[in-house]
Amino acid sequence: MRKLILVGAIAATALAACSTTPTGRRVFSLVSGSQMASMGASAYQEIKQQEKASTDSGDNQYAQCIVRNIIAVLPAEQRNQDWEVTVFASDQANAFALPGGKIGVYDGLYKVAVNQSQVAAVMGHEVAHVIAEHSAARMSTGVVTQFGMQVVGAFVGGSSMSPAAQQGVMQAMGLGAQFGVVLPFSRGDESEADIIGLDYMAAAGFDPRESVALWQNMSSAGGQAPPEFASTHPSHDTRIRDLSDRMDRAMTQYNKARAAGRKPNCRR
Ligand SMILES: [Zn+2]
Repeated sequence: MRKLILVGAIAATALAACSTTPTGRRVFSLVSGSQMASMGASAYQEIKQQEKASTDSGDNQYAQCIVRNIIAVLPAEQRNQDWEVTVFASDQANAFALPGGKIGVYDGLYKVAVNQSQVAAVMGHEVAHVIAEHSAARMSTGVVTQFGMQVVGAFVGGSSMSPAAQQGVMQAMGLGAQFGVVLPFSRGDESEADIIGLDYMAAAGFDPRESVALWQNMSSAGGQAPPEFASTHPSHDTRIRDLSDRMDRAMTQYNKARAAGRKPNCRR
């Protein structure tokens, strides 16, 4: 009941809205972008308190360099979010992104993503989740299916979010107890993040062909618990095929970026 009130109150502070993702998909969202950003920032703080940050300055600069190059090619409105990258010390090959541009990288990722373009494929994917507002859509779906529109209606007129309410939302985002294990996105969201991420990395001057190589590495690494960006759906083969289908276009973009002087040189 307590959770119902929290989530209902939050949903009520936003007007239901439809927005369009970069691939033109319309998404329904009960929670505004700024509310999601504020929730993302709180969740990020919590994760930073719980998880061990990497003290390796080379690893940190490497991740930041790659993300900075990707963000530089976003439209101004999206570029100007409060982007932040943290590298966590952990063997898992993992990464995540929270609304508002909060990105986490586990340094075990560097064992699978072995050059800057492969890391850029992961970062492009994570940035795409943020830009396409997949969390807002996912949470709204959860709110609607669990509590129904009546609950939302009953709380219309609620005030801004309290810290307690934010706690509730974090749980709705799947960030309650097990940090680092973010509630999985849907298959559609994952495919969309792959496609948008490919565009971003190519536009930033990272070699898009390395996205396919990354998935081949992921495939042969096997065994590990699937990280966020490597969720078991869609399968590695499907992702490789979808990326390959779009490679001609990505290469055109990449060549244009290189000709325009976008030649990132991020090193560990
Ligand atoms: Zn993903």
